[in-house]
Amino acid sequence: MKIIFLGTGHGSATPTHISSVTYLETGGKSYLVDCADGADAEMLRHGLDPAELSAIFITHMHMDHNGGLPVVMKRLMKHGEENASPVPVMLSEPDTAEVIEKWLVINGFPKVHGRFVYPDPEKEFDDGTVKVNSFHTKHLAASGRPSFGYSIESEGKRLFFSGDLKFGDCADFPLEPAMGADLMICELTHFRMPAVMPFLEKLEVGRLVFNHLGNWSQVPEEQARIRETCAHLPYPVELAFDGMELSL
Ligand SMILES: [Zn+2]
Ligand SMILES: [Zn+2]
Repeated sequence: MKIIFLGTGHGSATPTHISSVTYLETGGKSYLVDCADGADAEMLRHGLDPAELSAIFITHMHMDHNGGLPVVMKRLMKHGEENASPVPVMLSEPDTAEVIEKWLVINGFPKVHGRFVYPDPEKEFDDGTVKVNSFHTKHLAASGRPSFGYSIESEGKRLFFSGDLKFGDCADFPLEPAMGADLMICELTHFRMPAVMPFLEKLEVGRLVFNHLGNWSQVPEEQARIRETCAHLPYPVELAFDGMELSL
């Protein structure tokens, strides 16, 4: 499994980071987890073809996770394989598909209906190449809306995305579902290190990458402090940057 962190920032793009876009390549197929603005262009810059994506998984309805989705959907319609079967787009709130499709129709793509399917994030997704299971986070609990992290299995490996967590205390840190993953990708915006360390000290994973870096965690001095804070953990801890690639 190849992973390319195309966008590792949070909120609004900065000169060095676009927001959440992670590309996976496995079993001859390609996928995105989150699709912030710039996803389409960043894929092209890395020599990847957005029109060949097999599925897209959106963790929650914040624009720094889905702002680039209509553009990638347009790409799939305009340049994707003709008569291809509908592309799955897993939305944290599947009923928002209507709004996205309306937006595409207004923009000159009336044939959007039927080109995509919107799998229920509460159910396991399995296309024969990847198996995706979601878990709830409390990131949007204040507004009573769902948000998810994803566990993705393929080629005998398991990758775990935390999704965005609860502000402040990361009390919804997915310790149990992340246990044993080959790689955990954990956001680093909505809490500070003292809040997450008790969870990281209990966690057993092959490796951990902090992603979705908030403005505070994009600063080199702070990153040095984070590495130092995590140095005693029994697995390697890295901080993602836009364009970082790794293999599992
Ligand atoms: Zn976010
Ligand atoms: Zn969010």
